[in-house]
Amino acid sequence: AAKSQGRKSYAVYQPDMSEHVAQYFTRDQELRQALEHDQLRLHYQPQYDSRCGDLVGLEALIRWQHPNEGLLGAADIIPFAESSALIVDIGRWVLDESFRQLRDWIKHGYKPVRLSINISARQLEDRNFAHIVDSIATHHEVPLSLIELEVTESCLQNSNVGVHNLRRLKQLGANISIDDFGTGYSCMSSLKTLPITALKIDRCFIQHIQDEANDRAIANAIIALSKQLNLRTTAEGVETQAQADLLRQAGCDEFQGFLYSKPLAAELITQYLKLSAESTDPL
Ligand code: C2E
Ligand code: MG
Ligand code: MG
Ligand code: MG
Repeated sequence: AAKSQGRKSYAVYQPDMSEHVAQYFTRDQELRQALEHDQLRLHYQPQYDSRCGDLVGLEALIRWQHPNEGLLGAADIIPFAESSALIVDIGRWVLDESFRQLRDWIKHGYKPVRLSINISARQLEDRNFAHIVDSIATHHEVPLSLIELEVTESCLQNSNVGVHNLRRLKQLGANISIDDFGTGYSCMSSLKTLPITALKIDRCFIQHIQDEANDRAIANAIIALSKQLNLRTTAEGVETQAQADLLRQAGCDEFQGFLYSKPLAAELITQYLKLSAESTDPL
């Protein structure tokens, strides 16, 4: 009966419902419910300047505070959301929540840092996407120059609307990076025409950079290419000092990874920003 009532049928779901009835609800429906019932969270992973070590950015990464399963990661959310239009609603929530949080940090007087948001293909396909991002930024009084949108190479395959949205966002001052660079269907000529500001080197090239000559060659080539194209490079998934040293020598601009910090809940980032502000206070 609940099923025939369609989309909004989750309203009848109660946590004490018997297990077999609860199984009626697919992950997708459960996720829609999670969005409506405020179970989604954002964690933020710091990004650092490779030379001076300053905090330069935070990447927002989605989590799900599941009522029975605990804190679930992006792998339990994004693939399900992307298989339906739900990713559009979740994506909008991510923009709204992260911009609100950034505004909160700025209001407290912490040094403004760049905020990176992951964007799915389906969001970028919306003709209004650039306008949506701009309105949310205006609403929270966040300058788009502090925002970086992370898109993947596959997002941009044959997508005039997507490219148009990115052009518009770049015009409005936003930063655009290609996430997981080197793992998708890339086309070198698109680097020439796309309005991008940075490349993120995927963790798969970083992980064995010390002992795999091929991975080292690829990482070095991406960094050299970025320099020629005036793009910033961020290495993802930096876990050891040796990896950081090799990447710094190669000229990589920014580091993100467990060596420095895991993604952290907003309150922990707040504490961290507070401590750094105090430690650099001239008084
Ligand atoms: P991504 O954007 O490439 O994010 C980096 C992922 O690598 C994150 O996983 C992060 O926790 C993980 N990571 C960072 N440093 C290290 C490290 O040193 N070692 C290892 N092993 N892992 C590291 P996470 O949070 O599970 O996210 C996975 C993917 O899900 C993201 O990959 C992104 O593609 C997607 N995603 C996450 N949040 C969102 C979102 O709000 N919207 C959309 N559309 N996609 C999202
Ligand atoms: Mg990313
Ligand atoms: Mg990535
Ligand atoms: Mg990735």
